[in-house]
Amino acid sequence: MNEYDSNRILDIVKKINYNSTKKIEEASCYLLNTCHIREKATEKVYHEIGRVKKKFRNKKKPIVLITGCVAQAEGEILLEKEKYIDAVIGPQSYHEINKIILNIQNKKKDINYTNFDTIEKFDELKGIKNNLSRASSFLTIQEGCDKFCKFCVVPYTRGPEYSRPIHEIVEEAKQLVMNGSIEVILLGQNVNAYNFKNKKLSDLIYLLSEIKDLQRIRYTTSHPNDFTEDLIEAHKNCKKLMPLLHLPVQSGSNKILKEMNRNHTAKDYLELIEALKDKNPLIKFSSDFIIAYPGETRNDFEETLFLMKKIKFINSYSFVYSARPGTPAANMETISDNIAKDRLKTFQELAENIKKEYRKNLVGTLANVLFENKVSNENKFFGRDEYFNSVIVESNEDLVGKIKKIKIQNYNKNTLFGEKMLNINEKEYAA
Ligand code: SAH
Ligand code: SF4
Repeated sequence: MNEYDSNRILDIVKKINYNSTKKIEEASCYLLNTCHIREKATEKVYHEIGRVKKKFRNKKKPIVLITGCVAQAEGEILLEKEKYIDAVIGPQSYHEINKIILNIQNKKKDINYTNFDTIEKFDELKGIKNNLSRASSFLTIQEGCDKFCKFCVVPYTRGPEYSRPIHEIVEEAKQLVMNGSIEVILLGQNVNAYNFKNKKLSDLIYLLSEIKDLQRIRYTTSHPNDFTEDLIEAHKNCKKLMPLLHLPVQSGSNKILKEMNRNHTAKDYLELIEALKDKNPLIKFSSDFIIAYPGETRNDFEETLFLMKKIKFINSYSFVYSARPGTPAANMETISDNIAKDRLKTFQELAENIKKEYRKNLVGTLANVLFENKVSNENKFFGRDEYFNSVIVESNEDLVGKIKKIKIQNYNKNTLFGEKMLNINEKEYAA
Protein backbone atom coordinates (compact mmCIF):
# COMPACT_ATOMS: atom_id res chain seq x y z
CA MET A 1 0.00 0.00 0.00
CA ASN A 2 2.91 2.33 0.63
CA GLU A 3 3.90 1.84 -2.99
CA TYR A 4 0.39 2.85 -4.09
CA ASP A 5 0.49 5.85 -1.74
CA SER A 6 3.92 6.93 -2.99
CA ASN A 7 2.69 6.87 -6.57
CA ARG A 8 -0.40 8.87 -5.67
CA ILE A 9 1.73 11.41 -3.78
CA LEU A 10 3.76 11.82 -6.96
CA ASP A 11 0.54 12.38 -8.94
CA ILE A 12 -0.44 15.11 -6.45
CA VAL A 13 2.88 17.00 -6.25
CA LYS A 14 3.11 17.15 -10.03
CA LYS A 15 0.36 19.78 -9.74
CA ILE A 16 2.87 22.13 -8.07
CA ASN A 17 5.63 21.19 -10.52
CA TYR A 18 7.49 18.65 -8.46
CA ASN A 19 8.60 15.37 -9.98
CA SER A 20 10.60 12.34 -8.90
CA THR A 21 14.35 12.20 -9.44
CA LYS A 22 17.00 9.51 -9.35
CA LYS A 23 19.70 12.08 -8.52
CA ILE A 24 19.11 12.39 -4.78
CA GLU A 25 21.67 15.20 -4.29
CA GLU A 26 19.72 17.40 -6.68
CA ALA A 27 16.37 16.98 -4.94
CA SER A 28 14.69 20.05 -3.47
CA CYS A 29 12.30 17.91 -1.45
CA TYR A 30 13.04 14.61 0.24
CA LEU A 31 10.07 12.44 1.17
CA LEU A 32 10.37 9.26 3.21
CA ASN A 33 7.25 7.09 3.13
CA THR A 34 7.43 4.79 6.14
CA CYS A 35 6.04 1.52 7.50
CA HIS A 36 5.57 0.87 11.21
CA ILE A 37 4.50 -2.77 11.24
CA ARG A 38 7.58 -4.18 12.97
CA GLU A 39 10.33 -2.90 15.24
CA LYS A 40 13.14 -0.52 14.35
CA ALA A 41 10.91 1.45 11.98
CA THR A 42 11.50 4.70 13.88
CA GLU A 43 15.25 4.12 14.20
CA LYS A 44 15.40 3.56 10.46
CA VAL A 45 13.86 6.99 9.91
CA TYR A 46 16.52 8.70 12.05
CA HIS A 47 19.31 6.77 10.27
CA GLU A 48 17.95 7.69 6.90
CA ILE A 49 17.71 11.36 7.83
CA GLY A 50 21.34 11.12 8.99
CA ARG A 51 22.30 9.90 5.53
CA VAL A 52 20.34 12.69 3.84
CA LYS A 53 22.01 15.29 6.06
CA LYS A 54 25.41 14.00 4.96
CA LYS A 55 24.46 14.12 1.29
CA PHE A 56 23.27 17.71 1.62
CA ARG A 57 26.05 18.92 3.94
CA ASN A 58 27.42 21.48 1.50
CA LYS A 59 24.17 22.16 -0.26
CA LYS A 60 20.88 23.90 0.40
CA LYS A 61 18.79 21.77 2.74
CA PRO A 62 15.91 20.06 0.95
CA ILE A 63 12.38 20.13 2.30
CA VAL A 64 12.17 16.95 4.41
CA LEU A 65 8.84 15.17 4.79
CA ILE A 66 8.07 11.99 6.68
CA THR A 67 4.89 10.29 5.51
CA GLY A 68 3.26 6.94 6.30
CA CYS A 69 2.65 5.04 9.50
CA VAL A 70 5.78 6.07 11.42
CA ALA A 71 4.72 9.68 10.89
CA GLN A 72 1.27 8.77 12.18
CA ALA A 73 2.53 6.88 15.22
CA GLU A 74 5.37 9.21 16.25
CA GLY A 75 4.05 12.60 15.05
CA GLU A 76 5.37 15.39 17.29
CA ILE A 77 8.19 13.21 18.65
CA LEU A 78 9.84 13.02 15.23
CA LEU A 79 9.57 16.79 14.82
CA GLU A 80 11.01 17.43 18.26
CA LYS A 81 13.86 14.94 18.04
CA GLU A 82 14.98 15.69 14.51
CA LYS A 83 14.87 19.34 13.55
CA TYR A 84 15.92 18.49 9.99
CA ILE A 85 12.35 17.19 9.44
CA ASP A 86 9.96 19.89 8.24
CA ALA A 87 6.68 18.00 8.39
CA VAL A 88 5.11 14.68 9.36
CA ILE A 89 2.13 13.55 7.31
CA GLY A 90 0.00 10.51 8.25
CA PRO A 91 -1.33 8.03 5.67
CA GLN A 92 -4.79 9.60 5.69
CA SER A 93 -3.53 13.17 5.27
CA TYR A 94 -1.25 13.07 2.25
CA HIS A 95 -3.85 14.73 0.04
CA GLU A 96 -2.79 17.94 1.86
CA ILE A 97 0.80 17.61 0.72
CA ASN A 98 0.87 20.50 -1.76
CA LYS A 99 -0.44 22.91 0.87
CA ILE A 100 2.21 21.59 3.26
CA ILE A 101 5.07 21.98 0.76
CA LEU A 102 3.97 25.52 -0.13
CA ASN A 103 3.77 26.40 3.57
CA ILE A 104 7.31 25.13 4.12
CA GLN A 105 8.50 27.14 1.14
CA ASN A 106 7.00 30.11 3.00
CA LYS A 107 9.20 29.23 5.98
CA LYS A 108 6.63 27.46 8.17
CA LYS A 109 8.17 24.57 10.09
CA ASP A 110 7.21 21.59 12.21
CA ILE A 111 3.98 20.80 10.45
CA ASN A 112 2.02 17.86 11.83
CA TYR A 113 -0.78 16.45 9.67
CA THR A 114 -1.90 13.22 11.28
CA ASN A 115 -5.70 13.29 11.24
CA PHE A 116 -7.72 10.37 9.92
CA ASP A 117 -9.44 12.11 7.02
CA THR A 118 -9.84 9.01 4.86
CA ILE A 119 -13.04 10.21 3.20
CA GLU A 120 -11.57 13.62 2.45
CA LYS A 121 -8.37 12.03 1.15
CA PHE A 122 -10.08 9.85 -1.43
CA ASP A 123 -12.44 12.69 -2.32
CA GLU A 124 -9.41 14.80 -3.19
CA LEU A 125 -7.64 11.93 -4.96
CA LYS A 126 -10.54 11.13 -7.25
CA GLY A 127 -9.95 14.43 -9.04
CA ILE A 128 -6.31 13.56 -9.71
CA LYS A 129 -5.55 11.12 -12.49
CA ASN A 130 -3.58 8.02 -11.57
CA ASN A 131 -0.64 8.30 -13.95
CA LEU A 132 0.95 4.99 -13.14
CA SER A 133 1.80 3.09 -16.27
CA ARG A 134 2.69 -0.48 -15.44
CA ALA A 135 1.63 -3.94 -16.60
CA SER A 136 0.57 -4.69 -13.04
CA SER A 137 -0.76 -1.92 -10.79
CA PHE A 138 -1.78 -1.65 -7.18
CA LEU A 139 -5.16 -0.10 -6.48
CA THR A 140 -6.26 0.73 -2.92
CA ILE A 141 -9.94 -0.03 -2.38
CA GLN A 142 -10.14 -0.23 1.40
CA GLU A 143 -8.11 1.14 4.27
CA GLY A 144 -7.83 0.78 7.98
CA CYS A 145 -8.89 -1.92 10.37
CA ASP A 146 -11.39 -2.38 13.18
CA LYS A 147 -10.20 -5.84 14.22
CA PHE A 148 -7.54 -4.91 16.76
CA CYS A 149 -5.42 -8.04 16.78
CA LYS A 150 -3.43 -7.58 19.95
CA PHE A 151 -0.03 -7.39 18.25
CA CYS A 152 -0.86 -4.99 15.46
CA VAL A 153 -0.38 -1.23 14.99
CA VAL A 154 -2.52 -0.93 11.88
CA PRO A 155 -5.77 0.16 13.61
CA TYR A 156 -3.80 2.97 15.28
CA THR A 157 -1.82 4.10 12.25
CA ARG A 158 -4.17 3.60 9.29
CA GLY A 159 -7.29 4.32 11.34
CA PRO A 160 -10.78 2.79 11.19
CA GLU A 161 -12.05 0.68 8.29
CA TYR A 162 -13.08 2.67 5.24
CA SER A 163 -14.20 1.42 1.82
CA ARG A 164 -13.86 3.62 -1.25
CA PRO A 165 -16.93 4.24 -3.42
CA ILE A 166 -17.20 1.39 -5.91
CA HIS A 167 -17.65 3.58 -9.00
CA GLU A 168 -14.49 5.54 -8.18
CA ILE A 169 -12.50 2.32 -7.98
CA VAL A 170 -13.85 1.14 -11.33
CA GLU A 171 -12.99 4.54 -12.85
CA GLU A 172 -9.44 4.36 -11.49
CA ALA A 173 -9.05 0.78 -12.76
CA LYS A 174 -10.15 1.94 -16.23
CA GLN A 175 -7.54 4.71 -16.08
CA LEU A 176 -4.87 2.21 -15.13
CA VAL A 177 -5.89 -0.09 -17.98
CA MET A 178 -5.77 2.86 -20.38
CA ASN A 179 -2.25 3.53 -19.09
CA GLY A 180 -1.33 -0.06 -19.99
CA SER A 181 -2.23 -2.19 -16.98
CA ILE A 182 -3.12 -5.80 -17.70
CA GLU A 183 -3.44 -6.63 -14.01
CA VAL A 184 -4.73 -4.81 -10.93
CA ILE A 185 -3.96 -5.84 -7.39
CA LEU A 186 -6.74 -4.58 -5.13
CA LEU A 187 -5.35 -3.44 -1.80
CA GLY A 188 -6.67 -3.07 1.70
CA GLN A 189 -5.50 -3.90 5.21
CA ASN A 190 -8.68 -6.00 5.31
CA VAL A 191 -9.49 -6.04 1.66
CA ASN A 192 -12.31 -8.57 1.91
CA ALA A 193 -14.05 -6.45 4.53
CA TYR A 194 -14.73 -4.10 1.59
CA ASN A 195 -18.30 -2.86 1.80
CA PHE A 196 -19.57 0.21 0.03
CA LYS A 197 -23.33 0.61 0.42
CA ASN A 198 -23.67 -3.19 0.58
CA LYS A 199 -21.51 -3.72 -2.49
CA LYS A 200 -18.89 -6.23 -1.50
CA LEU A 201 -15.51 -7.28 -2.81
CA SER A 202 -17.10 -9.95 -5.02
CA ASP A 203 -19.38 -7.30 -6.63
CA LEU A 204 -16.32 -5.18 -7.33
CA ILE A 205 -14.42 -8.12 -8.81
CA TYR A 206 -17.29 -8.91 -11.21
CA LEU A 207 -17.52 -5.26 -12.24
CA LEU A 208 -13.79 -5.04 -12.87
CA SER A 209 -13.74 -8.26 -14.83
CA GLU A 210 -15.98 -6.53 -17.40
CA ILE A 211 -13.11 -4.19 -18.32
CA LYS A 212 -12.05 -5.77 -21.58
CA ASP A 213 -8.30 -5.28 -21.55
CA LEU A 214 -7.93 -6.06 -17.88
CA GLN A 215 -6.89 -9.69 -17.79
CA ARG A 216 -5.88 -10.33 -14.21
CA ILE A 217 -7.33 -9.42 -10.84
CA ARG A 218 -5.77 -10.09 -7.44
CA TYR A 219 -6.58 -8.82 -3.98
CA THR A 220 -4.58 -8.58 -0.77
CA THR A 221 -4.64 -8.80 2.24
CA SER A 222 -7.72 -10.69 3.28
CA HIS A 223 -8.82 -11.86 6.71
CA PRO A 224 -10.27 -15.36 7.22
CA ASN A 225 -13.27 -13.96 9.13
CA ASP A 226 -14.40 -11.77 6.23
CA PHE A 227 -14.61 -14.59 3.71
CA THR A 228 -18.24 -14.62 2.73
CA GLU A 229 -19.86 -17.24 0.48
CA ASP A 230 -20.11 -14.82 -2.46
CA LEU A 231 -16.35 -14.23 -2.43
CA ILE A 232 -15.60 -17.96 -2.27
CA GLU A 233 -18.00 -18.38 -5.20
CA ALA A 234 -16.17 -15.64 -7.16
CA HIS A 235 -13.08 -17.86 -7.19
CA LYS A 236 -15.08 -20.29 -9.26
CA ASN A 237 -16.96 -17.84 -11.47
CA CYS A 238 -14.42 -15.19 -12.28
CA LYS A 239 -11.77 -16.43 -14.66
CA LYS A 240 -9.78 -13.22 -14.34
CA LEU A 241 -9.36 -13.74 -10.61
CA MET A 242 -5.92 -15.31 -10.17
CA PRO A 243 -5.70 -18.63 -8.30
CA LEU A 244 -3.27 -17.53 -5.58
CA LEU A 245 -4.77 -16.30 -2.35
CA HIS A 246 -2.69 -14.59 0.32
CA LEU A 247 -4.49 -15.46 3.53
CA PRO A 248 -2.53 -14.73 6.71
CA VAL A 249 -3.13 -17.20 9.53
CA GLN A 250 -0.40 -16.04 11.99
CA SER A 251 -0.43 -19.24 14.08
CA GLY A 252 -1.66 -22.84 14.02
CA SER A 253 -2.46 -22.88 17.74
CA ASN A 254 -6.02 -22.13 18.85
CA LYS A 255 -4.72 -20.86 22.17
CA ILE A 256 -2.41 -18.35 20.49
CA LEU A 257 -5.02 -17.34 17.92
CA LYS A 258 -7.37 -16.56 20.81
CA GLU A 259 -4.63 -14.65 22.64
CA MET A 260 -4.03 -12.65 19.48
CA ASN A 261 -7.73 -11.80 19.21
CA ARG A 262 -7.91 -13.33 15.74
CA ASN A 263 -11.40 -14.69 16.41
CA HIS A 264 -10.95 -17.86 14.38
CA THR A 265 -9.51 -21.29 15.09
CA ALA A 266 -7.08 -23.36 13.04
CA LYS A 267 -10.03 -25.60 12.14
CA ASP A 268 -12.07 -22.62 10.85
CA TYR A 269 -9.09 -21.68 8.72
CA LEU A 270 -8.68 -25.20 7.33
CA GLU A 271 -12.38 -25.39 6.53
CA LEU A 272 -12.16 -22.12 4.64
CA ILE A 273 -9.21 -23.42 2.62
CA GLU A 274 -11.22 -26.56 1.80
CA ALA A 275 -14.27 -24.51 0.77
CA LEU A 276 -12.11 -22.44 -1.57
CA LYS A 277 -10.44 -25.52 -3.04
CA ASP A 278 -13.84 -27.05 -3.50
CA LYS A 279 -14.93 -24.13 -5.68
CA ASN A 280 -11.61 -23.83 -7.46
CA PRO A 281 -9.36 -26.91 -7.38
CA LEU A 282 -6.50 -24.89 -8.89
CA ILE A 283 -6.30 -22.43 -6.01
CA LYS A 284 -3.13 -22.22 -3.89
CA PHE A 285 -2.27 -20.24 -0.81
CA SER A 286 0.37 -18.05 0.74
CA SER A 287 0.35 -16.79 4.31
CA ASP A 288 1.89 -14.71 7.11
CA PHE A 289 3.09 -16.15 10.40
CA ILE A 290 4.13 -14.61 13.69
CA ILE A 291 6.58 -16.87 15.50
CA ALA A 292 7.14 -16.80 19.27
CA TYR A 293 4.11 -14.73 20.17
CA PRO A 294 4.02 -14.10 23.95
CA GLY A 295 2.89 -17.32 25.65
CA GLU A 296 3.71 -19.58 22.67
CA THR A 297 4.79 -22.98 24.04
CA ARG A 298 6.73 -25.61 22.11
CA ASN A 299 3.43 -27.37 21.60
CA ASP A 300 1.76 -24.24 20.17
CA PHE A 301 4.71 -23.86 17.82
CA GLU A 302 4.41 -27.50 16.73
CA GLU A 303 0.79 -26.77 15.80
CA THR A 304 1.97 -23.99 13.52
CA LEU A 305 4.42 -26.40 11.88
CA PHE A 306 1.59 -28.89 11.50
CA LEU A 307 -0.60 -26.33 9.74
CA MET A 308 2.26 -25.43 7.41
CA LYS A 309 2.76 -29.10 6.51
CA LYS A 310 -0.96 -29.64 6.03
CA ILE A 311 -1.66 -26.70 3.74
CA LYS A 312 1.73 -26.56 2.01
CA PHE A 313 1.70 -22.82 1.44
CA ILE A 314 3.61 -22.05 -1.73
CA ASN A 315 4.95 -18.89 -0.17
CA SER A 316 5.01 -17.50 3.34
CA TYR A 317 6.24 -14.51 5.29
CA SER A 318 7.31 -15.23 8.82
CA PHE A 319 8.69 -12.97 11.50
CA VAL A 320 9.47 -13.21 15.15
CA TYR A 321 6.86 -11.34 17.18
CA SER A 322 7.83 -7.73 17.59
CA ALA A 323 6.27 -5.69 20.39
CA ARG A 324 4.66 -2.54 19.06
CA PRO A 325 4.26 0.37 21.47
CA GLY A 326 0.63 1.14 22.24
CA THR A 327 -0.73 -2.30 21.29
CA PRO A 328 -2.33 -4.56 23.93
CA ALA A 329 0.35 -7.25 23.47
CA ALA A 330 3.17 -4.77 24.06
CA ASN A 331 3.17 -5.33 27.82
CA MET A 332 3.12 -9.11 27.68
CA GLU A 333 6.16 -11.09 28.63
CA THR A 334 8.11 -12.02 25.53
CA ILE A 335 9.81 -15.30 24.70
CA SER A 336 13.60 -15.35 24.96
CA ASP A 337 15.47 -14.25 21.87
CA ASN A 338 17.27 -17.56 21.51
CA ILE A 339 14.11 -19.65 21.51
CA ALA A 340 12.36 -17.21 19.19
CA LYS A 341 15.23 -17.23 16.67
CA ASP A 342 15.48 -20.97 16.87
CA ARG A 343 11.77 -21.44 16.18
CA LEU A 344 11.88 -18.97 13.31
CA LYS A 345 14.76 -20.91 11.76
CA THR A 346 12.92 -24.23 12.13
CA PHE A 347 9.77 -22.74 10.65
CA GLN A 348 11.53 -21.09 7.74
CA GLU A 349 13.44 -24.27 6.89
CA LEU A 350 10.17 -26.17 6.70
CA ALA A 351 8.55 -23.41 4.63
CA GLU A 352 11.56 -23.36 2.28
CA ASN A 353 11.50 -27.13 1.81
CA ILE A 354 7.80 -27.07 0.94
CA LYS A 355 8.37 -24.21 -1.47
CA LYS A 356 11.34 -26.00 -3.04
CA GLU A 357 9.32 -29.17 -3.58
CA TYR A 358 6.56 -27.13 -5.22
CA ARG A 359 9.05 -25.34 -7.47
CA LYS A 360 10.85 -28.53 -8.40
CA ASN A 361 7.56 -29.94 -9.67
CA LEU A 362 7.03 -26.86 -11.83
CA VAL A 363 10.07 -27.66 -13.97
CA GLY A 364 8.86 -28.84 -17.36
CA THR A 365 5.36 -27.38 -16.93
CA LEU A 366 3.82 -24.43 -18.76
CA ALA A 367 2.96 -21.15 -17.05
CA ASN A 368 1.08 -18.08 -18.24
CA VAL A 369 3.38 -15.19 -17.41
CA LEU A 370 2.54 -11.50 -17.43
CA PHE A 371 5.76 -9.60 -18.11
CA GLU A 372 6.28 -6.44 -16.10
CA ASN A 373 9.74 -5.13 -16.97
CA LYS A 374 13.03 -5.72 -18.71
CA VAL A 375 15.97 -6.72 -16.54
CA SER A 376 18.40 -3.80 -16.91
CA ASN A 377 21.26 -4.27 -19.37
CA GLU A 378 20.21 -7.80 -20.24
CA ASN A 379 18.00 -9.42 -22.83
CA LYS A 380 15.83 -10.76 -20.06
CA PHE A 381 12.33 -10.00 -18.91
CA PHE A 382 10.71 -10.25 -15.49
CA GLY A 383 7.14 -11.35 -15.06
CA ARG A 384 4.76 -13.26 -12.82
CA ASP A 385 2.81 -16.43 -13.41
CA GLU A 386 -0.77 -16.89 -12.24
CA TYR A 387 0.49 -17.92 -8.79
CA PHE A 388 2.49 -14.70 -8.45
CA ASN A 389 5.78 -16.56 -8.82
CA SER A 390 8.57 -14.42 -10.27
CA VAL A 391 9.67 -15.70 -13.68
CA ILE A 392 12.65 -14.60 -15.76
CA VAL A 393 12.86 -15.32 -19.48
CA GLU A 394 15.42 -14.44 -22.12
CA SER A 395 13.92 -12.91 -25.23
CA ASN A 396 14.83 -10.69 -28.16
CA GLU A 397 11.21 -9.62 -28.43
CA ASP A 398 9.99 -6.94 -25.99
CA LEU A 399 7.69 -8.89 -23.68
CA VAL A 400 6.64 -6.04 -21.36
CA GLY A 401 2.87 -5.84 -20.98
CA LYS A 402 2.30 -9.22 -22.62
CA ILE A 403 1.08 -12.54 -21.29
CA LYS A 404 3.08 -15.44 -22.75
CA LYS A 405 3.11 -19.18 -22.34
CA ILE A 406 6.42 -20.08 -20.76
CA LYS A 407 8.02 -23.44 -20.24
CA ILE A 408 9.65 -23.53 -16.80
CA GLN A 409 13.19 -24.89 -17.01
CA ASN A 410 14.79 -24.07 -13.69
CA TYR A 411 14.25 -22.41 -10.33
CA ASN A 412 15.99 -20.96 -7.33
CA LYS A 413 14.74 -19.72 -3.98
CA ASN A 414 12.83 -16.75 -5.34
CA THR A 415 12.71 -17.05 -9.10
CA LEU A 416 11.62 -19.43 -11.83
CA PHE A 417 13.48 -19.43 -15.12
CA GLY A 418 11.86 -20.40 -18.39
CA GLU A 419 11.70 -20.09 -22.15
CA LYS A 420 9.05 -18.67 -24.38
CA MET A 421 6.95 -21.21 -26.27
CA LEU A 422 6.84 -20.56 -29.99
CA ASN A 423 3.68 -20.04 -32.03
CA ILE A 424 1.42 -19.32 -29.13
CA ASN A 425 -0.07 -15.88 -29.00
CA GLU A 426 -2.11 -13.97 -26.47
CA LYS A 427 -5.35 -14.64 -28.30
CA GLU A 428 -4.98 -18.31 -27.63
CA TYR A 429 -4.26 -17.53 -23.99
CA ALA A 430 -7.38 -15.40 -23.70
CA ALA A 431 -9.47 -18.16 -25.25
N1 SAH B 1 -4.55 -7.52 7.85
C1 SAH B 1 -3.69 -8.61 7.67
C2 SAH B 1 -2.24 -8.33 7.99
C3 SAH B 1 -1.70 -6.96 8.03
S1 SAH B 1 -0.14 -6.74 8.81
C4 SAH B 1 -4.18 -9.75 8.54
O1 SAH B 1 -5.02 -9.57 9.36
O2 SAH B 1 -3.67 -10.83 8.44
C5 SAH B 1 0.94 -7.72 7.81
C6 SAH B 1 1.64 -8.81 8.58
O3 SAH B 1 2.61 -8.29 9.46
C7 SAH B 1 0.73 -9.64 9.47
O4 SAH B 1 0.08 -10.64 8.77
C8 SAH B 1 1.67 -10.18 10.53
O5 SAH B 1 2.12 -11.47 10.21
C9 SAH B 1 2.84 -9.18 10.53
N2 SAH B 1 2.82 -8.43 11.78
C10 SAH B 1 1.96 -7.47 12.18
N3 SAH B 1 2.25 -7.04 13.41
C11 SAH B 1 3.33 -7.74 13.82
C12 SAH B 1 4.09 -7.77 15.01
N4 SAH B 1 3.78 -6.98 16.03
N5 SAH B 1 5.14 -8.63 15.09
C13 SAH B 1 5.45 -9.45 14.06
N6 SAH B 1 4.77 -9.47 12.90
C14 SAH B 1 3.71 -8.63 12.77
FE1 SF4 C 1 -3.66 -5.85 12.01
FE2 SF4 C 1 -4.76 -7.44 10.16
FE3 SF4 C 1 -5.37 -7.75 12.74
FE4 SF4 C 1 -6.24 -5.61 11.44
S1 SF4 C 1 -6.80 -7.75 11.04
S2 SF4 C 1 -5.38 -5.63 13.47
S3 SF4 C 1 -4.51 -5.20 10.07
S4 SF4 C 1 -3.35 -8.06 11.73
